[in-house]
Amino acid sequence: MGQVIYSLHNHTPFSDGAYTIDEVIEAHFDCPALKGHELGGIGISDHLFATPSSRELHNEKEFERLFAKETRNYVAAVKTARQQWAGRVPVFCGAEINWPLNKHMLDVVRAMIDGVDYVLFEYVDWAGLTQLANQARRWPCPVILAHTDVSVTYPNTSMDQVVRTLANARIVYELNSKLMPLANQDRWFRVLPNHRVTIAIGTDLHDDLSVLNDLPVMHEYVRQHNLGEKIFVPQPKVPEAAAVATS
Ligand SMILES: [Zn+2]
Repeated sequence: MGQVIYSLHNHTPFSDGAYTIDEVIEAHFDCPALKGHELGGIGISDHLFATPSSRELHNEKEFERLFAKETRNYVAAVKTARQQWAGRVPVFCGAEINWPLNKHMLDVVRAMIDGVDYVLFEYVDWAGLTQLANQARRWPCPVILAHTDVSVTYPNTSMDQVVRTLANARIVYELNSKLMPLANQDRWFRVLPNHRVTIAIGTDLHDDLSVLNDLPVMHEYVRQHNLGEKIFVPQPKVPEAAAVATS
């Protein structure tokens, strides 16, 4: 039976992805595993605020000089695609942020992501998650914990405490192709429904289009765990209808 499919974690040449925004979207329409399903929305989520040398920046002025313009260009490019694909599939503007690299710059980052529909944080350790939880509600858009294998990343914290931390801070948990095979996630997905946590679904597409085959599998897995009502759907601030009307 057909499902509504969301695919919220895709990279393009803006960061380290191989396919343009249009190619990413077309690949979803061409993917045999997605035939018979409805595409509910595709999100572009390039790495932002990452210097080529991956060095950490502590100077706010330097940070803005390096990233403000390219961030605006990125958001504008995704919004252009949104307008071009309007009526066929909703296109969302996400961003992926490396937690260790940017955790000292969050105030600047927050001010620079105007127009971003959701932020995926990657490589968040337990200290980072508690720090993020304390300020997640101050973010202008939903905050998502990216591709985290909870049992591996937080081995010294009970799953119940992890799920309560996410729920209280309204941090979305991402189910990602990187976590396949999903049987490894069974224990965590038995705990997840105990608290109100929303689940984002994505593949972390860079250059291997075969990861798109995981999308229906992951959606089915989430539904089997009674989380079908909790699948995360971004809510762009400008409604699709308005975007179409002004184009
Ligand atoms: Zn990614």
